[in-house]
Amino acid sequence: MTDSSQQFLNEHQELKAGECFRFACHPGVSCFGACCSALDLMLTPYDALRLRHTTGQTSREFITLFANLMAMPEVGLPMLHMRMLADARHHCPFQRETGCAVYQDRPSACRTYPLGRATQRDAEGNVVERIFMAREAHCHGFDEGTDFDAAAWMHDQGLEPYNQANDRYMALAEDLRAFETLTGRHIGQKQLGMAGLALYQPDEFQPFLAQSGLMDRLDMTEARKQDVLGDEEACLDFGYDWLELSLMGHTEHLQPKNSKR
Ligand code: SF4
Ligand code: SF4
Repeated sequence: MTDSSQQFLNEHQELKAGECFRFACHPGVSCFGACCSALDLMLTPYDALRLRHTTGQTSREFITLFANLMAMPEVGLPMLHMRMLADARHHCPFQRETGCAVYQDRPSACRTYPLGRATQRDAEGNVVERIFMAREAHCHGFDEGTDFDAAAWMHDQGLEPYNQANDRYMALAEDLRAFETLTGRHIGQKQLGMAGLALYQPDEFQPFLAQSGLMDRLDMTEARKQDVLGDEEACLDFGYDWLELSLMGHTEHLQPKNSKR
């Protein structure tokens, strides 16, 4: 759980399973766009990948123009934040009078609002989520609309692939934290640099994988290797597996070639 999601939990009311709220957000609401400035907007690796679908940029161009690279507290895992404009209201760079210029690929936090989602894993490793609701004075979306419970809202906003991918990011951070506490070892700068490449720069990780032969040393099918080299989402998924293996020495998803499980 990040500091910002922990803060969200502390300040907002929890939405119980099945509990409904009424909400609508569209260009006709009087507050349209009021929530798209001065934000501390974390971009998960999947958020950044999806945003680049719309901007058409390389990861390097995207980071240079739109993001600040930060480190996740305690574990130091690379984490991007959207860089707000330097205008008087610190608008999001994608805000337009007509709405969000990257609407189809907008980040998970924008999709989830007015809800917030916090996750933890139980003893069996299953993701347990808690949902919170922000009722902020500037937001008039509660005055009209359709009744949603949390699950219906997540579905309506296309959040399933985001939540699935983001859960891996949070699980990696949680595992690293536990690993460092247990072993007293810390992830070095070089490894953190590789983590940044695997998580936020799949377009550069792919040629690295092709040239280094790294995948040839892993127990992977040829079909998966081709997928990883040709599809950025598959590459990000592999990146999580590889980071778990290389940083902590084991993962249930990937083994070195000829290893005895
Ligand atoms: S990405 Fe779109 S929805 Fe999110 S803050 Fe920027 S303009 Fe608003
Ligand atoms: S403040 Fe609320 S209703 Fe207004 S644009 Fe933002 S999310 Fe929509």
